Amino acid sequence: MTDAATPGKTFQPRIFSGVQPSGGLTLGNYLGAIRRFVDMQDSGVETIYCMVDQHAITVWQNPEDLRRNTRELAAGYIAAGLDPEKSILFNQSQVAEHAQLAWIFNCVARMGWMQRMTQWKDKAGKNQQNASLGLLAYPSLMAADILIYHATHVPVGEDQKQHIELTRDIAIKFNNDFGVDFFPITEPVIEGAATRVMSLRDGSKKMSKSDPSDMARINMTDDADTIAQKIRKARTDPDALPSEVAGLEERPEARNLVNIYAALNDQTVEEVLADVGGKQFSEFKPMLSDLAVAKLSPISTEMARLMEAPEEIDAILRKGADRARAIAAPILQQTYDIVGMIR
Ligand code: ATP
Ligand code: MG
Repeated sequence: MTDAATPGKTFQPRIFSGVQPSGGLTLGNYLGAIRRFVDMQDSGVETIYCMVDQHAITVWQNPEDLRRNTRELAAGYIAAGLDPEKSILFNQSQVAEHAQLAWIFNCVARMGWMQRMTQWKDKAGKNQQNASLGLLAYPSLMAADILIYHATHVPVGEDQKQHIELTRDIAIKFNNDFGVDFFPITEPVIEGAATRVMSLRDGSKKMSKSDPSDMARINMTDDADTIAQKIRKARTDPDALPSEVAGLEERPEARNLVNIYAALNDQTVEEVLADVGGKQFSEFKPMLSDLAVAKLSPISTEMARLMEAPEEIDAILRKGADRARAIAAPILQQTYDIVGMIR
């Protein structure tokens, strides 16, 4: 990890990240984000991981589904290896300081910054006038999620890089506007062979939990038959796999499946191709299914077990929220002092 620092001040390293309870967890969320969260938990740096329910409601969520998805996401975190004693786990709306700091950032960030965001353009689509104001302001709340803890490093998938850059812009503008060295300039941490897992149906589109087609993604809760069926039906081209990385260049679907294999098996793409180069997809796809089932089924079994005791999950989140608030509250108070608000 490189240093995150404003020119005058070095900040103590602290890691924050979040996932939206906007649906079930996908293989993309696991490989791009949650697995990295687990790696970082044992790095000796304080780790704070959130279920960002206030981000999820920027598009309509059925209240019962939101509650269930939030608990399932918490179960996914824990089943994947996050330990509530080591990492701080909670849901965003339990710590009001996120939204309070977001309001200040809404007044620091500029409209044009928000309108340039790829996620806004993708999610609002052609009907921007009818999208929620929250969807436009999403990156400002995300900056607050990170900066309310003075977090220096944020593990995310490739698609969130632009939002971290905007978080940096907000921190820089706040520091400049008020002549302080108060917020750190946060570093994104985008690592591994699967920082952008693509849809199984369309190699040009990211795998998303909110994609209307369930066949486009592998859910963490899918059973072995479902995983095998989705991989069997995944779009590919008719050629055999290449032996060199360069051979994947114009083949997004092939590259995606190889990347997934490499990430699941803790190998580099080069190592995978050295083994599977020359094989047809009819041979490679069953290898990938077996690997995915072997890696995911212990996690989904544990998620199902945890989901049988939702009150235990809620107790873990409440405890995490108390710990998070203890860090966030003084940072919000200092921000209010800087801005000139009387306490
Ligand atoms: P939604 O479709 O509702 O936006 P999502 O699947 O994109 O859901 P998020 O909650 O927005 O999930 O993102 C959580 C984390 O997972 C982020 O760090 C994001 O970068 C990462 N992530 C999401 N999709 C992928 C993907 N396809 N490949 C790698 N990382 C991903
Ligand atoms: Mg997303």
